[in-house]
Formats: sequence, C-alpha cells, structure tokens
Amino acid sequence: MKRTEIAELGEFGLIERLKKYETHHHDTTLKGIGDDAAVWKIDEQRYGLLSTDLLAEGIHFDLSYTPLKHLGYKAIAVNVSDIVAMNGYPKRAVVSIALSNRFSVEAIEELYEGMKIACERYRVDLIGGDTTSSRSGLIINVAIEGEVESRRITYRNTARTHDVLCVTGDLGAAYIGLQIMEREKQVFLANPEQQPDLTPYDYVIERLLRPEARLDIVEELRKRDVVPTAMIDISDGLASEILHLCTQSGTGALIYEERIPIDRMTYDVAINEFKIAPTICAMNGGEDYELLFALSPADFEKVKNHPDIVPIGYLTHPGEGTYLQTRGGNLVKIEAQGWNHFKKL
Ligand code: ADP
Ligand code: MG
Repeated sequence: MKRTEIAELGEFGLIERLKKYETHHHDTTLKGIGDDAAVWKIDEQRYGLLSTDLLAEGIHFDLSYTPLKHLGYKAIAVNVSDIVAMNGYPKRAVVSIALSNRFSVEAIEELYEGMKIACERYRVDLIGGDTTSSRSGLIINVAIEGEVESRRITYRNTARTHDVLCVTGDLGAAYIGLQIMEREKQVFLANPEQQPDLTPYDYVIERLLRPEARLDIVEELRKRDVVPTAMIDISDGLASEILHLCTQSGTGALIYEERIPIDRMTYDVAINEFKIAPTICAMNGGEDYELLFALSPADFEKVKNHPDIVPIGYLTHPGEGTYLQTRGGNLVKIEAQGWNHFKKL
C-alpha cells in the first residue's frame, strides 16, 4: 500500500480524509466533523454541543514561561471558545491529563486551580476525566459539552453573499506575546541572572498565556436579538478562519486592512521590535480566540454601536474570491499561507 506522509495533506487535509470514518447511528445527531463543535438534538427547542481540544507540551505550550495556573485556565477557555463559536453556552467538561514524575502533586494542583477559575468564570461544571503517565511531556485534553437554543445555533457554512463580516476584540496580540516570550527565553538561557522586565508587554503576554473565550458576545447577541448567519472562533489566524467560513458557505469575501482591529501595543511591538507588519500578525498569527461572524445587513444595524464588534468587510459571490484590500488600495488574495510577499514592511 502507498505510504502518504501526513505533511503532504496537512492538518486540514488529514481531517478531510478522516471524514469517511464518521459514523451515524442516531437520528438525533445533526452535525459531525466540520464545525467548531458537533451538534445533536435534545428537543425541538434545544441542541446539545460537544467539542474537544488537546494541548501538548512543546507544541502548544512551553513550561519554561507558562505558569501552570494560566495553562489550566487556557485549557478550559479554548474549549469554551468552540462552544461559543456555535453561539452556545458551555455546561460540563471532563479533563484528561498525561504526565511524568517530573511533576509534583502541587504542580498539578496549580494546573487545576487555573481550570477551576475558568470554570467559575464560564459557569462550567468540571465533572470527570482520566489520568495517565506520559514519556513526552504534559498533555492536557478537555472535552466540553454545551447547549444552544435551536433557533440560535450558528454553523460555519450558512453565511450569505452581502452579509457583513465582523470580528470581536483585537487580533494578533497573542502572536506578538509569543514572539516576546520566545525572545526573552533565549535571553534568559544565555544569561540566567538577568530577569526580564515584561511589564511593557503585559497585554500581549496575557493574551497569549491567559486568553478569554467571548461568551460575553454570545450574551450580547442574544440581548440584541441577533443571530449571525455563520460563525467561527479565531484560533488559527483570521486568514484561515475566513477561508473556512467562505469555503464552507460557498461565498467570496472582501475585507479591508484598515478595518482589522489591532491593539496599540501589538502594533508598536510588531513594527518596532520584530519588523513584522501588524496585519500579518492578525491574519496569520493564531490563538486570539476572538470570534469571526457574518451578519445580515439588518442584524448588523442592531450591533454596530458595540465597541467590541468590528465590521471588517462583507461577503461576495463565490466566483469573486476572497480578498484583502490593503491600505494602499491593492487587492491581495487571502491565503492560509503564502503571505511572504506581504511580510516586508
Ligand atoms: P477547532 O480549531 O475549532 O478546534 P479543528 O480544526 O480542530 O477545529 O477541527 C475541525 C473539525 O474536525 C471539527 O469538527 C473536529 O471535530 C474535527 N476533527 C479534528 N480532528 C479530528 C479527528 N482526529 N477525528 C475526527 N474529527 C476530527
Ligand atoms: Mg474552533
């Protein structure tokens, strides 16, 4: 049999290939692979949501600069984010860990303290899990369950041409936070006596180490009687999420560089210290855990005064492609990779 390297397919290609193994024995199962969470029918009014995310040491976090309490908080928050991306509310989670004897009981309790704080904040019941040993560092897996009113459920694939494309908060900060921490780690390794002063970078570092899920936005949309036509959380960078939303919905998109919300600190540090265009951080950086959603023009009117909901463009006909209009007026095709030509300032 032919051996295919995973790198040939990439993460999304592999998931696409695994889709054929999806099984379907229950009519109440409404959505399997392909969205932020799986969906099933509880009754006519309510749908159940289920999602899981795994964090592996050395891949998703570096314990030399990640406090375990923050890591615990993040493990819950990133899972809540996938429930939020369906316009739902999280309810219950189970947590599995694989660890080596490098960790003390107190260290693991630190991790769980962080999870507890997140569970308080997002009203999640932590109700079980599994524990095993690991020979390759700490692995944390959270599976989370939630609920959404059936008339408010928001998939990725239901956006329409002429919808307004919105994002929440600001983007690119976690990526800059990561660059700072990686830089300071190298400085520290070269000279362990020197303690870095990270206060000038507090916001971007917090965005990396202790992200929040935008459950407040789900609440806000409900209050204003707005249901997005499609939604996804921004975990892999805006470019990748726009492509997911547009490909799955069968639309194109035009977004404006000048509209992409970027925090002042992110902007300044990106340019002055890393010589990276801030737009690159927002488009291709990851781990912001903000939301990207599409609104009908009528619904957009109801939220347009909200300070944390920012229109960045609109959806176009599928044949028109997905483009970013730069500040200079050029049209750049949005691609998950291949932004190198854009990297120079
Ligand atoms: P997210 O970034 O929102 O967590 P992912 O990109 O991890 O989403 O996953 C996209 C979709 O693929 C989801 O519906 C998820 O359930 C599914 N998926 C990911 N990995 C696997 C896997 N190993 N087996 C089956 N489905 C998977
Ligand atoms: Mg997601």
